[in-house]
Amino acid sequence: MTQKDILSMTLPELEAEITALGEKKFRAGQLYGWLHEKRVTAFSECTNLPKAFIEQLDGMFFIMRPVVKRKLVSKLDGTTKYLYEFPDGECCETVMMSYKHGNSLCISTQVGCKMGCSFCASTKAGFVRDLLPSEMLSQVYESERESGRKVESLVLMGIGEPLDNFDNVLRFLELLSSDKGKNLSLRHVSLSTCGIVPRIRELADMKLGLTLSVSLHAPTDEKRGAIMPINKRYDTAELIDACRYYFAQTGRRISFEFALIAGVNDDAATAKELIKLLRPVSPCHVNLIPVNEIKEREYRKSGRVKDFQKLLEENGVNATVRRTLGADINAACGQLRRDNM
Ligand code: SAH
Repeated sequence: MTQKDILSMTLPELEAEITALGEKKFRAGQLYGWLHEKRVTAFSECTNLPKAFIEQLDGMFFIMRPVVKRKLVSKLDGTTKYLYEFPDGECCETVMMSYKHGNSLCISTQVGCKMGCSFCASTKAGFVRDLLPSEMLSQVYESERESGRKVESLVLMGIGEPLDNFDNVLRFLELLSSDKGKNLSLRHVSLSTCGIVPRIRELADMKLGLTLSVSLHAPTDEKRGAIMPINKRYDTAELIDACRYYFAQTGRRISFEFALIAGVNDDAATAKELIKLLRPVSPCHVNLIPVNEIKEREYRKSGRVKDFQKLLEENGVNATVRRTLGADINAACGQLRRDNM
């Protein structure tokens, strides 16, 4: 019999499993506390559970835990990047960043990615598989354990497209925010998407309190379609409509990611198109990112970041330039896993 993934189970599911074994329901609550508060890595560590019950658990379940395959620490700012390996040998990247207001963790949601954005290292070797809820959660648990730092906010901005692994991501968020576990308010979580429109609308209806980050990178179908294949499925007009819907439903301001690539999307005409596109989405926020240069493409960082920002600001579009963390360890996602392959 294959063992079940206990760290992906919600408390009601665990209760059902445990009572089916003939155990009292309160044992499930105890066990959930051991797994998600004390974060045991073996059932034998659950000292208040009967020995026979622990043996049963050992036979039926496994506790997901990744192995730290590589760890890079930035000498500039302490940003720490982990390459985690899961039991089947697949790897993902996780980055711990420290800001004045606390520690933020960037996690991966898939092994590889199907989306094919032309500037992104995570998608170059294609897609392998979705990550399980337990694999997302254990990136949080292992990073806290390993670094001794507490995660105060979380971004789903690592490898993968979270809305392409929707059910697992939703279950992960439920486990993460459980008051019997990590208890992280979803107000401190940002989900980044390349623009899977029907999922953005579903998420809006759920009113989870998440911040939505939308990877825009270009303001017209022509320019966006040239660098992001998803734009051929859901065009910019549909995307902007879904963003307005998200704000209307949740009251949460949308954050747009815009990676500036020299000669591709950093000119004044593009800035003007962006201003026109975003005017109806007020309030929103644009995060300008000097593109991370990757091996597979000729793309170069734009030298016009400040000018671009000024144009947006002068025209009433709120824009900031993202501070680069971990520049010396290449903290942008996807590159460590590729190097390891
Ligand atoms: N699939 C999701 C989340 C993962 S990518 C998404 O598309 O949003 C996280 C962010 O990094 C996205 O905004 C993505 O567009 C951006 N990104 C990818 N490659 C980059 C690069 N080379 N330079 C700058 N940003 C990049």
